[in-house]
Amino acid sequence: MLFKRIGAFSTLIWMAIGLVLLYNICYNHILACLVKPGGPKDLRKVENLRDIYKRRTNRKCVKAQLDDDTRFEGVSSEAKQLLKYRHKTSDDMFWCTKKCSKCDDWKPARAHHCSVCKQCQFAMDHHCPWVMNCVGLENRRYFLLFCFYLLLGSLYMLLTLGAVHKSHVVHTEKKELFSFVFFLDVFLFVAMIGFNAWNWKFALTGQTTIEYFTNQLRDDMSSRGKVYYDFSFKSASDNLWMIFGTNKLFRVLSPSMRNVPFTGIEWAFLMREAGYSQEGVKYLTDDEIAQIEMQEKLE
Ligand SMILES: [Zn+2]
Ligand SMILES: [Zn+2]
Repeated sequence: MLFKRIGAFSTLIWMAIGLVLLYNICYNHILACLVKPGGPKDLRKVENLRDIYKRRTNRKCVKAQLDDDTRFEGVSSEAKQLLKYRHKTSDDMFWCTKKCSKCDDWKPARAHHCSVCKQCQFAMDHHCPWVMNCVGLENRRYFLLFCFYLLLGSLYMLLTLGAVHKSHVVHTEKKELFSFVFFLDVFLFVAMIGFNAWNWKFALTGQTTIEYFTNQLRDDMSSRGKVYYDFSFKSASDNLWMIFGTNKLFRVLSPSMRNVPFTGIEWAFLMREAGYSQEGVKYLTDDEIAQIEMQEKLE
């Protein structure tokens, strides 16, 4: 009797785990599909809304909200440099002469043009057919969690199918269906290990997939004396904070609709202050140019 009760209890726990995984898969997939990554056009829309919001609430109330903001706890001073530019608006981008030739709009650092969405996206990672959306600044967190929970979900299904196979006799006519589902799940599980390793590696090292490929090209150029701006933070915790708006692991993995702390144009200001061109190349002093010329002559 007791044995049976423990059996029923553990089944309930197992089902609850399954429901939590299913909820997280659906939640993150839906939001990865619906939330726009954000681009220059979206930023202007947000700024208009913010103006309306500001007119509606009194200033005291807004200030109290900012003072109570606990989102920046545990963030290093290096990462906090970016927060200095949080108040910047698209009007402050007047100096940005880097334009997108396709959508004829300004193109700040880390923005890339997506030919499917036909607009520039902030911190664009890639255009994903599985979520029918671009993955970028505002929705990368949902995409990463969707991949993560899908990996756990496929593992859960493998364990469940294994347990069913072990403790029950599978209907002879349905054995083929059982094997099909099992192998499909094995395939999904292996694919998701690769997907997660690829995407989380870039997330934790503070780069996007596009930046990873451009960094490969830049390594080659760097050997010829060009110095490029590096957007990644030194610690994985700061890089997580950039994507998720928090660096607490439990909060990172929990479903939430928290905003990322940036609008997407901050990197352009940070890079400019550090003495880099809009292409991300370091301005060289006259002495440095002379030094490189000397080196080239010697070679
Ligand atoms: Zn564009
Ligand atoms: Zn796109």
